[in-house]
Amino acid sequence: MKEHSKPERTGNAGGRHMNRRQFAKATLAGAGAAAARAIMGPTSEAEATREKADEMRKHIRTSDNPVQIDEKKYKRFDACDTAFNSVSREFGENYFMHLIRNQMKYVMQGKTCRDVQTGSVREARHVYAFGNAFNNILEQLGGDGTNMENRGPTNSWTPLEYTKPLMIPGPPSEKDPDVLTPMTKAVSRIAGADKVGISALNRNLIYASCQPNPDFFAGHEQDPPIRKPINFRKDVKEPGENDHELFIPDTDINAIAFAVEMPRVMVQTGAQFSIVGASMHGYARLGYIMGTLSEWIRMQGYWAIPAKNDTGANVPMAAEAGLGEAGRNGMLITPEWGPAVRLAKVLTNMPLHHDQPIAFGVAEFCGHCRKCARECPAQAITYGEKTWEGTSSTNAHGAYRWYNDGAKCLKDGWIAEGSTCAVCLATCPFTKGEMWPHELTKAAIKHAPALNGIWLSMDDAFGYGFWKERNYKDIFKYGVSTYGLDPKKMKKEFI
Ligand code: SF4
Ligand code: SF4
Repeated sequence: MKEHSKPERTGNAGGRHMNRRQFAKATLAGAGAAAARAIMGPTSEAEATREKADEMRKHIRTSDNPVQIDEKKYKRFDACDTAFNSVSREFGENYFMHLIRNQMKYVMQGKTCRDVQTGSVREARHVYAFGNAFNNILEQLGGDGTNMENRGPTNSWTPLEYTKPLMIPGPPSEKDPDVLTPMTKAVSRIAGADKVGISALNRNLIYASCQPNPDFFAGHEQDPPIRKPINFRKDVKEPGENDHELFIPDTDINAIAFAVEMPRVMVQTGAQFSIVGASMHGYARLGYIMGTLSEWIRMQGYWAIPAKNDTGANVPMAAEAGLGEAGRNGMLITPEWGPAVRLAKVLTNMPLHHDQPIAFGVAEFCGHCRKCARECPAQAITYGEKTWEGTSSTNAHGAYRWYNDGAKCLKDGWIAEGSTCAVCLATCPFTKGEMWPHELTKAAIKHAPALNGIWLSMDDAFGYGFWKERNYKDIFKYGVSTYGLDPKKMKKEFI
């Protein structure tokens, strides 16, 4: 493999680089207050971004093959081999217990993660509580989906016990995708999805097997890990499960993918404990969205399989549904919120129109940038090119992509930092919101790809390069976006 050196930093967390205020003062005095405000104060940019999303997408080119697979090499991934499962098996207990123990240790040392010292237990505890409070009710909403195939109210593959009596027997009454597609998107948006896309299901992306005993994952190790295949079957009309397998009807299947925005200011506090709150808040919202949409689909007479990180791979599925492009950091990068999104999907036999996959320069930009690789505390992200071969047992080999080491990320990133880390989201130039340098950057990527090499330096020069700089108090200073129904956008999209 071609060797790549780590990109040089142009500043550091100690402040050698010019900070945003200094830069604005020095260079933007004549550029007007609006530009300076745009740099210094991300005020309600999430709302503005949502407003502009359609306009931005008009200028984005379409893509025919966001997921490239070598059919000779590729095998559907076994979800028993996710980093969460394999590391938990290696430890003999749920990895999360290790993470929590470190988190508590750091709090008592006055830290908000391994490397950020506040000097005060009181302050560290603020961040600890802010991160973990969002983790609580989430458990009732299916967690992050890991090992939750057909488990719990939001992940059930069949109607819920208390909604079964509401299901009208017989075939669907509405079969027209012209009617069902905007309705599907409207229900998803009303339930809180920030973006919805639809594709024909790529069956390569459905896990070959899963480990659907969340009790093991929840720390009850008396339940040994189990392995169940997920099979497509011609002889069933509804998805379901028996003692040996989970099964999906072998028919035309659509995948409805959702993105919910993670509050940018919270994301930029990663790897401090507050990032846990941003992730878990997103997953809780997704549980509500997919549970609601699935029941709506069933009441229309079709079947639905809701899933977060379970059942199939989110990032390529969301890319095929036109929500964004896969980046070097292994995340979906959206035009609106960069990688600061959480994803889920609902599979269904409901007839729906498909969205077009998009390309807006992520592949080209990531090829030069490598900022996430440089900043990753675990050094789990590749500096190399895309390849067809994975580098660890947590990878699905045979797809053309950047492969990262999930086990390293979990052990030397999440567990070591005592949080869900997300430094690769916090530092990604696409996470930066609507500040003009980044809009300029995104435009330039599209029109002048030869200049891509300079953008990492530019991002650093603006003081966005170094994750330790973001103080958790910014969350309260700037506020975070609301979510859910956006009447103006709803009117534009569906009415
Ligand atoms: S930090 Fe750079 S290389 Fe990493 S995902 Fe973001 S744009 Fe791509
Ligand atoms: S979450 Fe942290 S440890 Fe994992 S890849 Fe991202 S930066 Fe690295």
